[in-house]
Amino acid sequence: MTVAVDKTKCIGCGACVVECPIEALDLIDGLAVVNPQKCNDNGKCVIVCPTNALTLPNQPDQPKQALDPEAGSKFDLKEPLPDTVKDYAQDNQKKTISAQAAPVAGGDVWSGVWVIIEYSNGKVAPVSWELLGEGRKLADSIGCGLCGVITGYQVDSVIPEAFAYGAEKVYVVDHPALKDYRTEPYAEAITSLVTKYQPEIILMGATSMGRDVFPAIATRVQTGLTADCTVLGIDPETKLLQQTRPAFGGNIMATILCRTSRPQMATVRPRVMAMPERVEGREGELIHEDIPFDESTIRTKVLEFISSDAKSAFLDKAEIIVAVGLGIAAKRNMVLAEELAEVLGATIAGSRGAVEAGWLTHDQQVGQSGTTVRPKVYIAIGISGAIQHLVGMETSDFIIAINNDPEATILKVANYGIVGDLFQIVPAMTAEFKKRLQHGVAN
Ligand SMILES: Cc1cc2nc3c(=O)[nH]c(=O)nc-3n(C[C@H](O)[C@H](O)[C@H](O)COP(=O)(O)OP(=O)(O)OC[C@H]3O[C@@H](n4cnc5c(N)ncnc54)[C@H](O)[C@@H]3O)c2cc1C
Repeated sequence: MTVAVDKTKCIGCGACVVECPIEALDLIDGLAVVNPQKCNDNGKCVIVCPTNALTLPNQPDQPKQALDPEAGSKFDLKEPLPDTVKDYAQDNQKKTISAQAAPVAGGDVWSGVWVIIEYSNGKVAPVSWELLGEGRKLADSIGCGLCGVITGYQVDSVIPEAFAYGAEKVYVVDHPALKDYRTEPYAEAITSLVTKYQPEIILMGATSMGRDVFPAIATRVQTGLTADCTVLGIDPETKLLQQTRPAFGGNIMATILCRTSRPQMATVRPRVMAMPERVEGREGELIHEDIPFDESTIRTKVLEFISSDAKSAFLDKAEIIVAVGLGIAAKRNMVLAEELAEVLGATIAGSRGAVEAGWLTHDQQVGQSGTTVRPKVYIAIGISGAIQHLVGMETSDFIIAINNDPEATILKVANYGIVGDLFQIVPAMTAEFKKRLQHGVAN
């Protein structure tokens, strides 16, 4: 005996086909068909089916609750199907999964774009505002609302800022348990809001906090999460969130869709999206949620904050960066870059090559496995321009690259490329900048 398909209930959405880990299901003539040679009754298709069309053998009327502890919540898409889904299924003559497996995007119970606003130690991570700007575009493409979510303690000052940067509605959880960031209470607060209000898309910065709390939330609500996105968009046909990020060591850009579960969750690197216009005095709807935290059940206690080295702590906020690569050849030559940085008031950073050589620390690394930066000026000294480096800096406003190889990739993204020996060029630049800045010449 294998999983049975009730043909009167199957809408041919393909969710079971996608979910089955052993490829035991196919869509034939718009209906799910089980291959009895392959099916091992693992039940994953039964859980994911939005219309209860699938049942395990010997459990003909198995209620979902018995299979899925989350059943009864709306996370597993077991709500009655909206009309749009039924219409789609009736009209559906296509046989490909990609065309069919998008039964719930846009216009159904999962609605709205949310941005989690990161607030800690009295400061908002600027990526939160960048994401409100991006969220506005996504919400407009889908035709839904844009909301901000603020979790923390004594967050009143943040609320008007969230409206000013474009949120139409702001959800607030303000509680002493959220004073310092800890995974458990933050994940609990955001998860309970998600459960209650069912947003279609949730975004957060790919910061330390976002990288920590978002997987915890995605696990709790049993949905997918794409980390470290650099581009977001909406598929015009399905209204699904297109989540693009570097993959395979940065050699390709992969666009990832979350077809069968909600919400669609993505973290986005700071400084990749543009900062939106801030409109002072803009107003919106404010919703306070009370969540009764029990401190005794929270396993993590914050004892002390130890701030990291100030030179590198703000790399993603630096306005001028002097970055070094393996071309500088030895640690003793770092002095060339340091002198230039001193004159320009710049922050020192570099390639992974320079970090691996021990000339810089990892938190000074720019790129795919380091920090994404978007300074006004980025000066790349002896850096070849590997794709993993470029993804972390190519959106800088103005790039100056110094390299003795005229074919170096970095020169292709540079506004000014200087081909020559850095040991001659960098000291000359330092001397010239020093002279001009001393005399108050701006350019
Ligand atoms: C999964 C993965 C993640 C990665 N993540 C990152 C990342 O986050 N950031 C990152 O940077 N890299 C990353 N890398 C490594 C990346 O692929 C490159 O190896 C690295 O960026 C090379 O560093 P580089 O440009 O300093 O060195 P090189 O590629 O060796 O370039 C040195 C450059 O200096 C020039 N040069 C040499 N001498 C002189 C001179 N006298 N004057 C002028 N120019 C000179 C050379 O022409 C050359 O172009 C990652 C790789 C992988 C596989």
